[in-house]
Amino acid sequence: MSSKISKVWARQILDSRGIPTVEAACQLDTGEISVASVPSGTSTGTHEALELRDNDPQNYLGKSVYKAVSNVNEILGPGVWGLDVEDQEKVDKRLIELDGTENKSKYGANAILSVSVVSVKAASLATRQPLYLWINTLAKRVGIKEEVKVPTPVFVMIEGGLHGAGNLDFQEFHIIPASSKKYSESLKIGVEIFLVLGTDLERRGAIHSFGQEGGYAPNLFTNADALEVLYDSIKQTSYQVGRDVFFGLDVAPSVFYKGGEYTIRDKSAPLSDDALLEYYKYVNSQYHLALLEDPFHEDAWDSWKKIFAEMSDQLTIVGDDLLTTNAQRLEKAVSEKACNGILVKPNQAGTVTETLKVIKMARDANWKINTSHRGGETNDWFIADFACGIGSDYAKFGAPSRGERVVKYNRLLSIEAELLQKKQ
Ligand code: PEP
Ligand code: MG
Repeated sequence: MSSKISKVWARQILDSRGIPTVEAACQLDTGEISVASVPSGTSTGTHEALELRDNDPQNYLGKSVYKAVSNVNEILGPGVWGLDVEDQEKVDKRLIELDGTENKSKYGANAILSVSVVSVKAASLATRQPLYLWINTLAKRVGIKEEVKVPTPVFVMIEGGLHGAGNLDFQEFHIIPASSKKYSESLKIGVEIFLVLGTDLERRGAIHSFGQEGGYAPNLFTNADALEVLYDSIKQTSYQVGRDVFFGLDVAPSVFYKGGEYTIRDKSAPLSDDALLEYYKYVNSQYHLALLEDPFHEDAWDSWKKIFAEMSDQLTIVGDDLLTTNAQRLEKAVSEKACNGILVKPNQAGTVTETLKVIKMARDANWKINTSHRGGETNDWFIADFACGIGSDYAKFGAPSRGERVVKYNRLLSIEAELLQKKQ
């Protein structure tokens, strides 16, 4: 007989930016207790489910989440009491019905997701299964066919845009080890390049700090220079670009998009969508990108369709702010051929079941899946188990530095070890 949820409660904690977020706990009738906390985006897409903040200037400059916490304690938690913890679809359905809005604006996606995730964690305790295995069971229930696997890490090496402290426009510059490599080997590659890159930036006198996700945030002349610096650092290691490692970008252009044009430091005049596409073609000819995330504004569908038609045979075009882990937007992107990869962030959707259904749709369209952390993170490593459980192709958890990022990369190490042990 499966366990029932006997109590769910929440409190306010801080995320990696010092900004409040929601932590929830779930107790089962068998006594087991699980705990989960939710992340929060910095460069959020406008079509994401709503993150509820108190907007009270007297409390954490408006950023407190006391209302979301009380929504868990008074409405959402009591709403799922007595439910079978192994029936995640029912738990999530109840949460969605209680809120009743399209974008979870009544009780907040941060409140709702905390209950959804803490219930998944409780079910893994109840079923005595590792979290990634239980998530694989849930994935199979919605029709996802993939087995558990450790994804290829997408390391955020250099940060600009809203995440960076330096002068770069693009938000993230990635290093992606070849998918054929074992995860532990990929982690070693990522760390070695990251450390060489740090020394290199210092040697060049490039003033730099760290970005929100642990990557370097330097001042450079152009965005392309960041790729050149990365390229140079890789040359000083035993790894080869195009064989061992590949480049990726998350452009996240909302921050430099104004009046229909994109202003980047690489060009003296603002660029039209077509001119920006030509620029991406040039960058790709120089650096051979594997992933290109959010190349255009989140509602510039025609430009996405154009880049898909012209470049998707060479690289994966990943929709983050375009899709916001949302089934309707994904459906449109599939039918209009706007991209061929999705960034999966459960808090953009608001429940685990909705996230799994989006992944299933993307898989049916033969897309690549990149499971992602957020700019504001906690030390919860749920997303690492989630990425393995759904058989994600990629996992983007930031730089291989800073506690809230490495806790996830380290969790992938232990999952890899467990999976290897099982094979023996
Ligand atoms: C991203 O844009 O991919 C990202 C992780 O940033 P944020 O969480 O700030 O949206
Ligand atoms: Mg992004």
